[in-house]
Amino acid sequence: MELLHSGKVRDVYADGDDDLILVASDRVSVYDVALPTPIPDKGKLLTALSLWWFEQLADLVPHHVVSATDVPTEWAGRAIRVRRLEMIPVECIARGYLTGSGIKEYDRTGAVCGVPLPPGLVEASILPEPIFTPTTKAPQGEHDEAITFSDVVAKVGPETAERLREITLAVYRRGAELAADRGILVADTKLELGWAPDGTMVLGDEVLTSDSSRFWPADSYQPGREQLSLSKQFVRDWAVGTGWDKTGPAPEMPPEVVEAARARYVEVYERLTGRRW
Ligand code: ATP
Ligand code: MG
Repeated sequence: MELLHSGKVRDVYADGDDDLILVASDRVSVYDVALPTPIPDKGKLLTALSLWWFEQLADLVPHHVVSATDVPTEWAGRAIRVRRLEMIPVECIARGYLTGSGIKEYDRTGAVCGVPLPPGLVEASILPEPIFTPTTKAPQGEHDEAITFSDVVAKVGPETAERLREITLAVYRRGAELAADRGILVADTKLELGWAPDGTMVLGDEVLTSDSSRFWPADSYQPGREQLSLSKQFVRDWAVGTGWDKTGPAPEMPPEVVEAARARYVEVYERLTGRRW
């Protein structure tokens, strides 16, 4: 199989013209830098969670999964066979709470990605309603940049832009509602959509995983401060706490941090899916 793309976390192979194999590794990337220390089972945990979500969401939006089992045995459990899509060059982010780059932009401008928000919001405030806050899909080595809905319209046309926003918000609402029932708040999440050869818009990449979303435990939620994190944010916070400047080689994770991160990936999987890992 031809290796098309080797991301920081996943590898993408072409199997013939129609299918791709997405292979998730145990690596974790923060601020677009892959950490040197793998987290055991992470590739399998995220693959299983993503597959579960694609099924939960299938009535809202068609997804790219062809098979979770028809993959080379060496990658079993952490690879999926998907339909090859023509990806739409926008990272579709939905936010239900204000944090991360969102709160930074809000503090500066009172808006996020051109969406005006009421005054007085603080770190982790719930938004009056979920908002669509897209970014560019930067080439390898560069950072994604926040863009407005008009920028998306300029890139892909008004109809496609409108559908991207609609699907993104619908997936967020469904995901957040389901997760909330299981004690997890979805602060935000990122989707990627693409075109199938027959012209249908299809959900690709991964969906509502701990790498593409911020998950917070609902029982300790309190706006006005940083939340405990069940997702990759935990690793981000640890990495920055070591004094790392977010560029260049990232620090080695000590075993107790690896174990704590892994425990979060497992907890999210078990709570959301109701299955034992
Ligand atoms: P990173 O996520 O580490 O910032 P990345 O997005 O370049 O970098 P990966 O996420 O590891 O790397 O790679 C997955 C790639 O596969 C992405 O470019 C994504 O857009 C693409 N992709 C996902 N699903 C499909 C699909 N069904 N058809 C075509 N491309 C896809
Ligand atoms: Mg990616």
